[in-house]
Amino acid sequence: MGTVEVPVLIVGGGGCGLSASNFLSDHGVGHLLVERHPDTSEIPKAHYLNQRTMEIFRQHGLDGEVVGQGAPVEMFGKVRWLTSLGGEGAVDGRVVYEMDGFGGGSLRDRYAAAGPILPYRLPQHRLEPVLRRHAEKRNPGRVLFGHELVAFSDEGDRVVAEIREAGTGRITTVAARYLIAADGGRTVGAALGVEMRYLPGGLAGSQQVTTAFFTADMSAVWHEGAHITHFLNPYDPHLSCNLIEMGPRWGKECEEWVLHFPPNAPVQSDEESVVAKIRDVLGLPDLDLTLRHVTRWTVEAVLADRYRDGRVLLAGDAAHRHIPTVGLGLNGGIQDVHNLAWKLAAVLDGAAPDGLLDTYEAERRPVGRSNVEWAGSVASHHQSILNAVGLGPRVPAERRGPMFAAHFDPSPLGAARRARAAEIFRTHRGASEAHDMELGFAYEEGAVVPDGAPPPRREPLRDVYRPTTRPGHRLPHVWIGDDGRRLSTHDLAGAATGFVLLAGPDGAAWCEAAARVAERYSVTIRAVRIGDGAEFADTGGGWAAVRETTGEGAVLVRPDNHVAWRSIGGSEDPAGVLGHAVSRVLGVDARPMA
Ligand SMILES: Cc1cc2nc3c(=O)[nH]c(=O)nc-3n(C[C@H](O)[C@H](O)[C@H](O)COP(=O)(O)OP(=O)(O)OC[C@H]3O[C@@H](n4cnc5c(N)ncnc54)[C@H](O)[C@@H]3O)c2cc1C
Repeated sequence: MGTVEVPVLIVGGGGCGLSASNFLSDHGVGHLLVERHPDTSEIPKAHYLNQRTMEIFRQHGLDGEVVGQGAPVEMFGKVRWLTSLGGEGAVDGRVVYEMDGFGGGSLRDRYAAAGPILPYRLPQHRLEPVLRRHAEKRNPGRVLFGHELVAFSDEGDRVVAEIREAGTGRITTVAARYLIAADGGRTVGAALGVEMRYLPGGLAGSQQVTTAFFTADMSAVWHEGAHITHFLNPYDPHLSCNLIEMGPRWGKECEEWVLHFPPNAPVQSDEESVVAKIRDVLGLPDLDLTLRHVTRWTVEAVLADRYRDGRVLLAGDAAHRHIPTVGLGLNGGIQDVHNLAWKLAAVLDGAAPDGLLDTYEAERRPVGRSNVEWAGSVASHHQSILNAVGLGPRVPAERRGPMFAAHFDPSPLGAARRARAAEIFRTHRGASEAHDMELGFAYEEGAVVPDGAPPPRREPLRDVYRPTTRPGHRLPHVWIGDDGRRLSTHDLAGAATGFVLLAGPDGAAWCEAAARVAERYSVTIRAVRIGDGAEFADTGGGWAAVRETTGEGAVLVRPDNHVAWRSIGGSEDPAGVLGHAVSRVLGVDARPMA
């Protein structure tokens, strides 16, 4: 059999690879995806799809089934600390603390204002089949499960790979202009000598977590509505676990659950021991449950020393791996390939040189670093909470019970203990309300034209997202248009429409310039004005409040809805200025705009 030629080869059919396939299809980029397993993940793993991921799914028409199958924030918008679900002891069955998180409860309005869609919960074993179905539909016959990359070489102008079909052992040679390594870091990076570097700070390296995936009916005892329920166990530190709903229905009707034991907890992996431990943690000695899987995984805090090696681009867990606290892992991977897809399309179309792909690393690696560091730092906050309720590691075993009981004491001293602990619990918002980590990151260097403006102020706990049109940031979302045609500002750029230029009501000159620039640089730029008398009404003045330009200014937005460039006001040479900006974004020489 001859060599199969494809523009892009995606290795790995996890959440990141399957998302890449969908995005590339939408951009019209031919590709082949190979996944060594016969089917998608059987294990739930990631379950929180943050607001940025959901708006990316919405942009690519992938949100419908996620919304249909997933849990809305109303069903997971709290973080809760309990002692147990059952038990007869004095402190059993108590709610120690709960707070809103992940866009739920009191946070809902703030999150709803920030994006066209809210976060959702859909675990990976339910999400991946959705992504796979869409990927197969958009790229028929070219999403190959049961196919493994067994060897590859970068030959300068292309990557040549050997793909083995699991059922037959047959090897096919594939030649691709580019390879996306979405293999979780298992194959490609290591073969290239990419080093996964441990970042300082946080919990990492030596810690092993045991995770139990089980089925049970807990409708009679379950406190619904939480993203995660932490159990604070006064009797045994190794039973301070957390429990998460995995669907397929939500709340009291949930059937599948994941329980994470604390790092390095001594848990035997035989079924009987794990089942006994689960019952101990929950305080439900008679719980009828079916154990589905027990996994052991290492808490890491690693970042690839490079995201690009020649024609290979690393994404998802192949580029960054960290503790799941905050849920930035899968979300970060999906956002990596969203950044990459439009750039690959521009390069393969000939609109931009190969150098545009260098901006992938320049933009996404700092975000990867920040996510790894943040996840590690907030994860260690669990220790502060244990200390705050008298369950810290220095408390002698015999004092744990009394110290913890003192937390519930009705005396003024007990009230003081609870008030003090409540302040510490509240700082957990760095993990559960990290809206600014999810939406506020920016690309300081890359396919953007910085304008020298300082970034907006960031809160130390990253809990407040501040919209801005400063180049490199995510475009602020605002509903525009009238009732008959209401759109998000995020609905204008994308795979089908390319770049978009958002001009003020008096920015017609920018729109005229955009048409000339688009032609000159062979890119698509849709140009619209927003405001009074313009193509889109600025209903409620939302756009004027965040655009940070005058009515004569304009904002150029990339297909991934990040701001590429902006002009605060008008210009005497709009085509020249805009053309220069586009040339810098694409990495091509500026062309005369005569
Ligand atoms: C317990 C747990 C909970 C988590 N919770 C969250 C959360 O709430 N939110 C979040 O965002 N993240 C979470 N994560 C992290 C998340 O699961 C990972 O970040 C995510 O799975 C990474 O996706 P990926 O596609 O990059 O890699 P993977 O899911 O690892 O997929 C890589 C795929 O590549 C395939 N592959 C490897 N080598 C080859 C080859 N040579 N040929 C063909 N195929 C190959 C593998 O079979 C695999 O299917 C959690 C992780 C764990 C362990």
